[in-house]
Amino acid sequence: MPFSSSEKLPEKFKIERRVRTVEIGDLKIGGDHPVSIQSMTTTSTADVEKTLAQIKKLDEAGCELIRLAVPSSEAARALSSISSAVDVPLMADIHFNHRLALKSLEAGIDGLRINPGNIGGRSEVREVVRACQNRGAPIRVGVNSGSLEDEIREKHGGPTAEAMAESAARQVDFLQELGFEDYLVSLKSTDVNTNTAANLIFAQKYDCPLHIGITEAGFGRSGEIKSAVGMASLLSRGVGDTMRISLTGDPVREIEVGRKILASLGERSFGPEVISCPTCGRTEIDIEKIAAEIKKALQNFSSELKVAVMGCSVNGPGEASQADIGLAGGRGTGLIFKEGEVIKKVPEEEMIKALLQEIKQMECD
Ligand code: SF4
Repeated sequence: MPFSSSEKLPEKFKIERRVRTVEIGDLKIGGDHPVSIQSMTTTSTADVEKTLAQIKKLDEAGCELIRLAVPSSEAARALSSISSAVDVPLMADIHFNHRLALKSLEAGIDGLRINPGNIGGRSEVREVVRACQNRGAPIRVGVNSGSLEDEIREKHGGPTAEAMAESAARQVDFLQELGFEDYLVSLKSTDVNTNTAANLIFAQKYDCPLHIGITEAGFGRSGEIKSAVGMASLLSRGVGDTMRISLTGDPVREIEVGRKILASLGERSFGPEVISCPTCGRTEIDIEKIAAEIKKALQNFSSELKVAVMGCSVNGPGEASQADIGLAGGRGTGLIFKEGEVIKKVPEEEMIKALLQEIKQMECD
């Protein structure tokens, strides 16, 4: 059972799409820029200390854009202390109250997530758009299947993909009428197929960057799997420029899962990737333990190597021939191999050390 390559899927298998670039702080989204990973704080934004502590953790985990809920004037005021203390770009999440959007911009926020349809009338939207233009802050138009306009929902008989795409189109067209093009769009449903269809419909008509995610994906493994399926169905078609994995719980996990999804699709690399065989009746070593040990040892390595951990010396090297390097162990012996060719035979208890030495050498070469 050979491993499949994690190289980026060739463009010919994706839908044709040319995407504009939008800049939020120093993060570029769209164009030829890599798909970025973002998250949202779960602390009360008004609690500056706790929010800064969570932002620090997210930043360290590799989060590239952080969204904060701004439900009150107190939260909007806190943004000034928060934004001046961090380097990672910040986006304020505003519902219903355009004044909070204006205050967030005054406080130095890098971008806004609003739904132009629910923050007031046309004049309020115009005011927010003008303030964004003055500050060079983009807007993310966030369409959610759970909060569509009644009229659109009725027209389509529910929160369908077409209804979501129409809602997004309507809001974007209004921004365009105001001469504002510095926006990106998200269309999120908790249903994977609706989510995919809505984004595909919209992506074929508009050239703005798309923020993708499955809303209310849930928690734990089921939320992670649902998100991975939803993101893969879009990214493998070339749709999606920035992504949030919405999981209940510690947002740092969202970054870990997001990175794993992007690395699995060959979209980005975050250091060496450890792959391992599924094990079978021929397995002669404790694969899970060894793979975990190697993964930990490689945490601070920067290369894009694919490292295989295989459970038997008979089939291991061949099955992992698409890995750059790997080990296969059993019966007291460890084999170190590169691209399927055995380069070293060592006692089993020394194989991890021998593998790590080879990897270090490859990083230096
Ligand atoms: S133990 Fe050997 S044959 Fe079995 S899955 Fe692993 S590498 Fe393949």
